[in-house]
Parts: sequence; structure tokens; C-alpha cells
Amino acid sequence: MRASDLVFQTQREDPHDAEVASHRLLVRGGYIRALASGVFSFLPLGFRVLERISRVIVEEWDRIGGNQVLLPALHPRELWDETGRSVTMDDVLMRVDSKLGELVLGPTHEEAVIAAVAPDLPSYRALPAFVYQIQTKFRDEPRARFGLMRTREFLMADGYTFDADRDGMRSSYQRIYDAYGRIYARLGLAAIPVEADAGSIGGDVNHEFMVASAIGEDRFASCGQCGYRANVEAARRGQGPEVPVPPLAAPTVYRTPGAPGVTEALAALAAQGAPVDDNAMLKCLVAYDPEGRTALLLVPGRRQARVPHGWRLAGEEAFAPQGPFALGYVGPLGMRERGVRLVADPSIRERAWWATGNNVEGEHIVGVRLGVDFNVDEWLDLVEVVDGDPCARCGAELALRRAVEVGHTFQLGVTYSAKMARGTFTSDDGKPHPYWMGCYGIGVSRLVAVIAEEYQRGGGIAWPLEVAPFEVAVLPAGKGEELAAAARGIAEELEGVGRRVILEDRPVSFGVAAADHELIGAPIWVVVGARALARGEVELRNRISEHERTVSLEDAVAAVAAEIGSIDESMR
Ligand code: ATP
Ligand code: MG
Repeated sequence: MRASDLVFQTQREDPHDAEVASHRLLVRGGYIRALASGVFSFLPLGFRVLERISRVIVEEWDRIGGNQVLLPALHPRELWDETGRSVTMDDVLMRVDSKLGELVLGPTHEEAVIAAVAPDLPSYRALPAFVYQIQTKFRDEPRARFGLMRTREFLMADGYTFDADRDGMRSSYQRIYDAYGRIYARLGLAAIPVEADAGSIGGDVNHEFMVASAIGEDRFASCGQCGYRANVEAARRGQGPEVPVPPLAAPTVYRTPGAPGVTEALAALAAQGAPVDDNAMLKCLVAYDPEGRTALLLVPGRRQARVPHGWRLAGEEAFAPQGPFALGYVGPLGMRERGVRLVADPSIRERAWWATGNNVEGEHIVGVRLGVDFNVDEWLDLVEVVDGDPCARCGAELALRRAVEVGHTFQLGVTYSAKMARGTFTSDDGKPHPYWMGCYGIGVSRLVAVIAEEYQRGGGIAWPLEVAPFEVAVLPAGKGEELAAAARGIAEELEGVGRRVILEDRPVSFGVAAADHELIGAPIWVVVGARALARGEVELRNRISEHERTVSLEDAVAAVAAEIGSIDESMR
């Protein structure tokens, strides 16, 4: 490729709305251009990187028996009614009115893939099967941001496995999970699999693949001792030691008007000489379980509560003046008698007594004891883990890290197939059974940003070889036909041996060209300067290791190959 043929325009100015480096670099380098908020065009450079990432995924998924397909982005709404997701995913679904009736733009393709391939998988003899696509997804994201990290239209590689039973599903899952590891390694990323929350996709076992990053919107906990890793949305903490507090003989009621919050209440209690400490308060949240029954969720007051799936916190309606709940003064005493279940996080066992609301406006009660003054109906994990919490598996300390989710794998079981008319195959007993499914997503366009973020160098990017739009840039460092001809010669020789090369042939100064090529991001530069050329030499720069050396003109192509080999080696 000649730089003069490449449609691109680098930009000195950062885009005004860019908060992260990858967004700045990808816009300034001419990879992408925003059309609307969270909607981007991929320009020639950006498209090259997308294609390179896609190629790695296709190679690794084809290697394990994947069948690439292309499913429609437009789905009849009735398809989403079959699984109930026209309601449960309503917040992200983009809808289209058309002569065909209401359509939705696919945010994911579980329904559509069953409709497409089930006729080809009529019996257990056709299973297992793995189909995948690389396709545009649409989600009405409320918080589109960080350039390609979170967009409303994005490219995803999504795979689906079909098996005859649970064991089959598990072994298909393992095969694809292993392929994920190879894919991210080839992309130059250390992606860490963590246990995750299944969210609206549903199913049982699932893993997110995380790249640790200061700009990540996710956080995961990891245990240095046993290797337990989980998204904070799913991470469980083990039982901590009991906190020593002086015993109290019986609970005491205190007047605390105008102090409904944990901090205010503790201050009001301490001011009256109550024996409270910073961690004494029990937080009691009024909530509805998945069946709509009212319950109190009990968590230590200093803890961030995590509301379980299918539950929802009560709103104003629960705190009517004559009702059972006094806003800010809710406590566990007497609740069972009123038909309200008590559901608690196991960490409330870690203290002998608690201070809590007394279910009367302006009153707290100090010294309430589990097993004496109240009992728990159900134990559930209700707190978000924090740094230093005990690991649920081995008890060692958990550490939290910020990260970006670059992929997700799910064991779906029969969650979707059982709901769909077409979701069955004929089993070896001759009867219809729903498919045991897995689904697998990789955020292809998000990866462009994640890799750019990781491989910032100088004023630009040094792309890992597998994804670089060009492996080598050949740059004449000066004007004149002699330098240009030498540069052309090297570029042609490299292209002749199959290298992806960009040759700088525009009438611009070396300074301008170099600034552009920092952004174009070839990991290797061959710089052809007059003085070196007079000695029969050129300069070779490895922008990933940030080393440079001089090689003879005849050896240039072999030296580039050696440099590429060394980058390849260091990525393994
Ligand atoms: P997130 O939690 O980041 O919103 P998700 O869990 O909803 O993502 P999945 O349904 O698991 O996303 O989609 C698979 C992959 O697609 C994600 O791991 C992520 O890499 C990518 N992805 C999801 N949403 C977006 C988006 N709005 N923009 C770009 N990539 C996305
Ligand atoms: Mg996900």
C-alpha cells in the first residue's frame, strides 16, 4: 500500500468528547469517525484492524469445528416474544416499524440462531454443532462512551453450541473456552477469565474475559492463593472472623429523630452514650422477591448491598404513613409476625449484636441479637466484595481490580430452546428434547479500543503484529528520487515475501510523515536516510520493544523477518 493511496487524514486536535487514550488515538489516526453518539464509521485503517481481529477469531473457531454463518440483524418481534425477551431486554432493544410489522434490531442472536439452524439439526446424530457469526449488534445503550468501548452499534463475534445433553454442552463449552485463551494471546492481550453474573442472557455457568485496565467499567475480585476470580457482580465472600464487641444484656431503644441514614444514626446514638462503633449498624432494605413477596434484606451498614437477580428494592409505595415500614427506621424486630421474610447476608453472623431501626419513626434500637431477638428465614449473598475480604473458596484475601470485559461465555442449558417451538431435536429415545446450548461473545470492535489502549507508544500506537493494519512502514527520511527509489525497492521486496507494508510516498517532510506513522501504528519501521544509505545501510525500528538498529540494505528484508520473529516470540 502506498501512503498516497490510503484514504486517511490524521488530526492534531483531540476530539472534544474523548475521555480515554484509545478514543483520542483512533479518531486522530483516522481509524474511525463518529456519525452519532455511540455510532462510528470504520475508515480504511479501522476496518483493517477489525478485519485482522476477525481473522484470528475465524481461524481459532474454524479449527475447533466452527461453522461461520451470517444471521439477519432484523428480527420479527414475535421471535423475541417467544422467549419473553421483548419484555426482559426491552431497555436495550431498538425497534423498527416496517411494512413487515414491528421488527427489532438484534442485540444478540440466541433466538435467531435457533430459528436459522434447528432444521439442520433435527436429531441427536447431527449434534454437537457449533455455529458462529461476526456481525453488527444494536443495543440502545444508556451510557455509550469511551469511543469504541461502549457503542450503540458494534461488531461482535457470537458463537452458539447445540448439544444433546448437559455433559455434551459442558465439553463444547470447554472447547470454546480454551479457544478464547488462544484468541486473546494472539491479539496480544492478557485476558483473565472470571466467574460472572449471567445478566439478562440467563443460564448457569458463565465466564467473562477481562483485561485489567484503569479505565475499565467492570471490577473483579481475585484470590492470590487459590485462583478464585469473579466479577464483583458475582463474587462471593467467605465467612470472616467474628468481630469482638463487648456483650450487651438486652437491646435498648434510643430516640433518634431526623437521623435516618447509617452515619447520622450512629452519630445520634453515640451522642446519647450508646455503645456503638463504626460497624454497629445493620442495614435493612425493603425488597420484593421474584414472586413479588415482601422481604427485608439484612446487610452490615457499612457494606454496599447487592440485590439478587429477579429481586427489586421497594420504592416510596412501601413507606406509606400508616404502613409497616418507617422510612430510614426499618429493623428486623417483629417483621416475621407481620408476614415479612428476613433474608440476610452471612456476614451479619460476624457480630454478636447490632444497632438497627426500631420500626418507629425517630427510633433506633441497640444490641439486637441474631438468634435471640430475630431469626433469619433465608441466607443469600447480598454484599459486594471489597479489597481484603476473605475468599469464598479458601479464606485468603481477595484483591479487586478494574477491567474491561472483552468476551463472555455462557452455559445456557435449555433456557432458550425449551421456550421456542423450533428448539427441539429428536433424542435417541425417539422423543423431542430441547437443545442443550452454549453461547459465546467476543467484542470485536471493543477489542480495537482495548488493544489501542494497551499498545500506546510515543505519540501513537504500536499494534501487535496479528492486528496491525500494516506490519512494516518504509519511510524515506528526506527528499529526492534516490531515497524514494531505495524505499520503494525495500517495500516491494517486503511485499514480495508477503509482508503487509505501507510505503511513505507523499511529498511531506519526514517529521510530518513520522507523526502520521506513529498513529498508523506499524510495529516495525524501516527508515531510509541519506547518510546511512550512502554507507549502504538503513535503520530498523522495533516500536514495540522500542529498540533501533542499523542494518545493511541487502539484509533489510531478512532483518525485518528476524524482528517480526522476535515480536512473535515475545507475545507467546
Ligand atoms: P457490558 O457488560 O460491557 O455492557 P455485556 O455483558 O452486556 O457487556 P455481552 O452480551 O456479554 O455484553 O456481549 C459480548 C461482548 O460484546 C462483551 O464481552 C463486550 O466485549 C462486547 N460488547 C457488549 N456491549 C458492547 C457495547 N455496547 N459496545 C461495544 N462492545 C460491546
Ligand atoms: Mg457480558
